[in-house]
Amino acid sequence: MTGAPGGTLFIVAAPSGAGKSTLVNALLEREPSISLSISHTTRPPRAGEEYGRHYYFVERAEFERQIAAGTFLEHAEVHGNLYGTSLATVQALLDQGRDVLLEIDWQGAAQIRRAKPDCVGVFILPPSRAELERRLRGRGSDAPEVIERRLHNSREEIAHAHEFDYIVVNDGFEEALADLQAIVRAVRHRTALQWKRHEALIAELLA
Ligand code: 5GP
Repeated sequence: MTGAPGGTLFIVAAPSGAGKSTLVNALLEREPSISLSISHTTRPPRAGEEYGRHYYFVERAEFERQIAAGTFLEHAEVHGNLYGTSLATVQALLDQGRDVLLEIDWQGAAQIRRAKPDCVGVFILPPSRAELERRLRGRGSDAPEVIERRLHNSREEIAHAHEFDYIVVNDGFEEALADLQAIVRAVRHRTALQWKRHEALIAELLA
């Protein structure tokens, strides 16, 4: 029988405007066995965003109630709004052997590293400050003061990039996507996982 290691928890972080969500969505298309964790947030939905697909949009009072109830594996205030990851959902997927990807900020990543030291963190960098600014302003879905706050906060986010296991510079989309996919595939081939996954094969080869 093949061993069944639990899934791997991947964290992807980046400053707003680095192209993280686009990269992650493309990665999930290429690697459909990874589940994306849908976060809770008190941020109002942007045009086109749907409850349960992009986020679970909740009121601040409800979010705070859920913090007190121990619902979250991690939670943090980012750009003035609360964001959090549901512990039960993520744990159930990992227990089924599914890989799970969290798109969260550096504060959440630090909490996850303490709770789940086997997690794998990837930080996406923009190719330049000018490009980060251009992408943020070009999004067209955020108010000018929201953009300014996100630009201002990007330095703090980037200052934590060294805490992650991997860094990918999103200069060209295809190359960054290939890098991200290479990281996922390399992690999946780590001996600690493969040894359990291929227990029967190794036993047979050693017989
Ligand atoms: P946005 O409002 O642009 O969707 O996300 C803003 C920031 O919040 C991004 O850096 C994103 O990664 C982060 N974020 C989204 N969901 C979570 C979460 O569940 N926990 C934490 N800590 N950060 C999150």
